[in-house]
Amino acid sequence: GVILLNQDSEILLINPAARFLLNLSEGQYFYERPFNEVVRIPDLSRAVNAAGNGDGPQKVLVEIPTTDSIRPVKARVDRFSAAGHKNLLMTLRDETEAHRLEEMRREFVANISHELKTPLAAIKGYAETVELAIKDDPEAASYFMTQIQSQCKRLERLIADMMQLARAQSGRGNMRITTVSLPDVISESIQSYVPVAEAKRIDLTVDLAEPVTARAEQEAVLTITNNLIGNAIHYTPEGGTVRVSCVNDKETCVLAVEDTGVGIPESEHKRIFERFYRVEKNRSSSDGGTGIGLSVVKNLAVALGGEVRVESKPGEGARFEVRLPRTAS
Ligand code: ADP
Repeated sequence: GVILLNQDSEILLINPAARFLLNLSEGQYFYERPFNEVVRIPDLSRAVNAAGNGDGPQKVLVEIPTTDSIRPVKARVDRFSAAGHKNLLMTLRDETEAHRLEEMRREFVANISHELKTPLAAIKGYAETVELAIKDDPEAASYFMTQIQSQCKRLERLIADMMQLARAQSGRGNMRITTVSLPDVISESIQSYVPVAEAKRIDLTVDLAEPVTARAEQEAVLTITNNLIGNAIHYTPEGGTVRVSCVNDKETCVLAVEDTGVGIPESEHKRIFERFYRVEKNRSSSDGGTGIGLSVVKNLAVALGGEVRVESKPGEGARFEVRLPRTAS
């Protein structure tokens, strides 16, 4: 936004962006009207007066109430001379996005600290107990050692997941885009999950009917597939089924992972893709999830120019579908 004022702080020019940022009504007449009368924001008036009095460039951050929120706007006022007149130039910048990013960063750090603190507190507690029990009750000491190990594993998983997330969020610029065969990636992923599925007596089936190739990064597609299959097995009770498939559909190829597990209520369908979000929060449990897997899937899918969707009803299983751009045939 730009506003030009004369030496009496009257408006000579106000561009549409400035009118929008300051929430000034459309039909209003501005030319040669005093700035302080038109824009009734004390901090801006003070900045205009100070710059006009020769106090140098003025910078302020003001909050403009709009119909549904408050818009942070950064303003700068400079005095300059032109054709013997001293004029003032005010520039305005919308800070909404910068504030939102800052808020997200703060929230992310708070989340990470919380997630790391919980297992660390448990490890500390168990270690103190081991110290007390080691002489008189070696059996109890050994039990607490297993607990320490399991909390350490959780910490390891959290850190590995967070590194995966950092990579997913670094975007397409860091990816090596090539032609990726989805059936090959699915087969590789399945191989690592067969033992897990067998241990839970889950029927893990693959449906690969046709050649399907995506314009994507091999590693990213493998991470997506691993996370979806891992979740499907994790959230499906013993004796259930997990089915993985891929097909071509017009300009895209579709990778789908379906299970007969616990399902997800409709109200949670959006939120499960958020970082650290779990449907049933059980942060202290060492075998609980980290809530990161699906946000990695979403970030990677979007970075690859695709998308992810879920269809699910509680008790009726879930179907996750990732669409990726197809290679030109
Ligand atoms: P987590 O590490 O908790 O599995 P995710 O980001 O992978 O984190 O998943 C977020 C939440 O979505 C999980 O806590 C779980 O409640 C739900 N969820 C993910 N996949 C499935 C699935 N196949 N069936 C049921 N619920 C699922």
